[in-house]
Amino acid sequence: MSTPRRHAEIAGGGIAGLAAAIALAQRNWSVRVYERGSAVRPEGAGIYIWENGLRVLTALGAHDAAVAGCHRGWMRETRNDANRVVAVARWSTEPGRRVVSIARLQLLGALHDRARELGVEVVFGQEVAAATPQGEIVLQDGTRRKADLVVAADGINSKVRDSLGLLRSRRRHADGAFRIMIPRTEAERQSEDGQKYAEYWSGVRRVLYTPCNANDLYLALTTLERDTEGQRVPLDKAAWTRSFPHLASLIERIGDSGRWDVFETVKLKQWSSGRVAIVGDAAHAQAPNLGQGGGCSLMNSLALAVALEHPEVIGTALANWEQRERPLTEHTQRVSAMYSKVTTLPPLLRSVTLSWLGKSKWAMEQRLRTAFHVPTGTVA
Ligand SMILES: Cc1cc2nc3c(=O)[nH]c(=O)nc-3n(C[C@H](O)[C@H](O)[C@H](O)COP(=O)(O)OP(=O)(O)OC[C@H]3O[C@@H](n4cnc5c(N)ncnc54)[C@H](O)[C@@H]3O)c2cc1C
Repeated sequence: MSTPRRHAEIAGGGIAGLAAAIALAQRNWSVRVYERGSAVRPEGAGIYIWENGLRVLTALGAHDAAVAGCHRGWMRETRNDANRVVAVARWSTEPGRRVVSIARLQLLGALHDRARELGVEVVFGQEVAAATPQGEIVLQDGTRRKADLVVAADGINSKVRDSLGLLRSRRRHADGAFRIMIPRTEAERQSEDGQKYAEYWSGVRRVLYTPCNANDLYLALTTLERDTEGQRVPLDKAAWTRSFPHLASLIERIGDSGRWDVFETVKLKQWSSGRVAIVGDAAHAQAPNLGQGGGCSLMNSLALAVALEHPEVIGTALANWEQRERPLTEHTQRVSAMYSKVTTLPPLLRSVTLSWLGKSKWAMEQRLRTAFHVPTGTVA
């Protein structure tokens, strides 16, 4: 006797929601995603995806479209206030230890196309207000829909999570980032420096330089939340040029758009309630210092579908999923929060700390544990 097809309703069409939708559809679930935006329009310019995330993208069948033409990371320099290199990290471009940088629009587009190919219904312009542990999703217009599983992937301000009272803590870090994408110049495309990732420090400010593909350069400018001048949108170019005179021509090219976000860490009492699973930033937002918020979202979304492969009691499967995946996610949150603390150190002490962190095998292992983890549901 064949088992009836199970149905999932998902709040949020970001990285986590689309990854969960694909992974469930691959396992013969019928899936509907509600995205409040009117189209695939990600915030935040570019994104680093490490080996763990690349493995998940492969398992989802979205890898090739997501990374086509993207920049393969091979080296990152950290430079101090005097523009001297204080730490260098190198990675292989071979499978096993990879990192790439991608335009978010390309990543989300690849996930969206793959979801549609598998028959997932994506409803744009529809906001979700709440859910019940019995598996009912409640839309903003009052419509209620029943499902075997509801997935809350509605981001850091998750309404679904909050309707279930699952939030344990939400901590603001001292720092945040302004992000923008600008065109790469021909000189950047040709020069060796233009192919490196680079992190420039000056006082409490930092410029992260990340080529994403032949045309796009992703810039993340981080500073402390108390630096009101440094977090203005549009960017206060004069203020940032005072901090980084050697980057004047780069800063000059930044346009009037961009966005500022304070870094936050979210922890839940538990990752599920009855038939509702919480995933992505809604469950485990983190400071982005390790570039793993999206990686953890991809891993935990795929692992969720794997945990539900055998039709046992849903509550038990969700508890097992959390028990298996949560420790690595919390390790990532802890290490990333530690790097946010480094931002608050006086410049000399920060340089020494960054140099030590760059050389210490122990620190590297802590930092890269998640990146080189083989996620549930992927091939070792
Ligand atoms: C400065 C910065 C840099 C980062 N860099 C990296 C990086 O390099 N690598 C990395 O892996 N991660 C990075 N991250 C983290 C990464 O962006 C997030 O972890 C990831 O986007 C989380 O995906 P998500 O789908 O859970 O949430 P989101 O990306 O926030 O997506 C949620 C979606 O749900 C929709 N939505 C929200 N509320 C509702 C609702 N009520 N109803 C319907 N739809 C709704 C939103 O419109 C959105 O499309 C960074 C984060 C920041 C702040």
